Amino acid sequence: MNITHDLHMHSYLSFCGKDEATVENYVAQAGALGLTTLGFTDHVWDDACPGMPAWYQQGGRQNVDHVLQLRSAVEACRGRGVRILHGCEAEYDYAARSTALSMAAAEQFDFVIASSSHTGNTMPKAFYDPPRRHAEFMLQAYEDMLKSEVSRYFTAMAHPFHAVLCPYGHELPIEAITDDEYKRIFDLTAKKGIAVEINIKCLVGYHAERTDEILLQPHMRMFRIAKDRGCRFIFGTDCHWMSAQNVILHAATVADALGLTEEDLHPIVRE
Ligand SMILES: [Zn+2]
Ligand SMILES: [Zn+2]
Repeated sequence: MNITHDLHMHSYLSFCGKDEATVENYVAQAGALGLTTLGFTDHVWDDACPGMPAWYQQGGRQNVDHVLQLRSAVEACRGRGVRILHGCEAEYDYAARSTALSMAAAEQFDFVIASSSHTGNTMPKAFYDPPRRHAEFMLQAYEDMLKSEVSRYFTAMAHPFHAVLCPYGHELPIEAITDDEYKRIFDLTAKKGIAVEINIKCLVGYHAERTDEILLQPHMRMFRIAKDRGCRFIFGTDCHWMSAQNVILHAATVADALGLTEEDLHPIVRE
């Protein structure tokens, strides 16, 4: 199945995004990558939630007003043959055991993806060892976000259980979670109608060329269980600069390996 959407894209407004990552530039390259729907999801921590982590205070506060600055460029690029959605990537609020996004803020976006696995930014370092403890932190974070009131605005859970900025192999916590634990958490996800994101960057990095290696990634066991439990999916590249979006070309391989059809995609990307 061809994948014609990318619902996880960062612009220059994210601290980790490059200056070239503008709406205009992404729209201009969409055709060459076979993309008809682009979804922007800059990192956000709502000022309505106290305790913005230091990472979010870099390059100016990455709050709601900051990420809404993209709106004018999104509007200006409509009508160029590409459907553009303006979303955000919401963060886990460990102190509040919730999501660092208010309902009022969520309402201002076309969609929201929720990240419970930026553990490099949100988790006390003591949880890294052993990887099983790290995995338990992510399971709790995922469930906390899923149960937060604002989850009614979630389209998808971003890169589930893929620990970002992990000091050891990301496969260790993923492998430390049992099939039964995945079944339980994805049952909750499916019941809420929230999709599971297949984040291509997490599967291939930026430069992988051998598709056979993608299918050996431990994420595939997790995705198979999610599908089996009735979850829907969206795809994203997590690009922070232009060439990083090229990995979308691997999305069809993953979709086919999982046996996905249009029915398995979240309605937001079914046209
Ligand atoms: Zn993320
Ligand atoms: Zn991201």
